[in-house]
Amino acid sequence: MFFHAHPDDEALLTAGTMAMLAAEGHRVVLVVATAGERGLAEMAPGDALGETRLKELYESAALLGCARVECLGYGDSGLSPKGGVADERPDNAFIDADTEAAAKALAAILQEEQADLLAIYDPAGGYGHPDHVQVHRVGKRAAKIAGTEIVLEATVNRDPLVRLLKLAGRFYRFPPEFDVRTFESAYSSSETITHWVNVRKYTKQKRASMAAHASQASGGDSDRTLAVMLKVPRPLYRFVFGTEWYVRRDLPPGTRLTHPFDRWPK
Ligand SMILES: [Zn+2]
Repeated sequence: MFFHAHPDDEALLTAGTMAMLAAEGHRVVLVVATAGERGLAEMAPGDALGETRLKELYESAALLGCARVECLGYGDSGLSPKGGVADERPDNAFIDADTEAAAKALAAILQEEQADLLAIYDPAGGYGHPDHVQVHRVGKRAAKIAGTEIVLEATVNRDPLVRLLKLAGRFYRFPPEFDVRTFESAYSSSETITHWVNVRKYTKQKRASMAAHASQASGGDSDRTLAVMLKVPRPLYRFVFGTEWYVRRDLPPGTRLTHPFDRWPK
């Protein structure tokens, strides 16, 4: 089971792993906390955007071979223009949710599915979106309640990413709002990562999953991460997106596994 904050997060972080596991015959379930109705898009924030984004999520999930998609139905907390928690947010914003209640809702699905593995985010929530931090908290607790053995924190190895983005910046013009420096303290450094999953075989599905989230790849005037990533030249895209990274906290740092279900010690 893969637990994400908003539709499109699965495309960016775990799509290759999901497609790989589905191709291997695993039942892959995707759960999002919110419909992403306050995402940055040409459409105004609100219910209609949420509906559009859920439709995009179903399309993406189908492309990746998911057997089931669920939305916990919390409100998208949004992001303040400076990053961090937005002052104005819906009453049921995920960030304000009772962690225990949300964890119980997620644990119920874990138990129903008898899930062997739950993927969440690292404690920093990747680049720090408050809903992503909440995914970590809720997901960790849900795994405890349900007794799910393997908890993987989806992350990005920021070391090669920062290097590549700086290099790419020399011949490729990023939009002005795209600041490479924000990546320097986001996600995880190489030495904390325990899983290096080669998903090169599934680049096509991953790209298709990203393209399914059309509302996030068009318009908007702020963080256009997805649009930027979709415009990455193909060879570079393969290089950046050929690996997906995870941290499993119950394994010693320095562990290097290549598959989510790898045992340690081998
Ligand atoms: Zn998100």
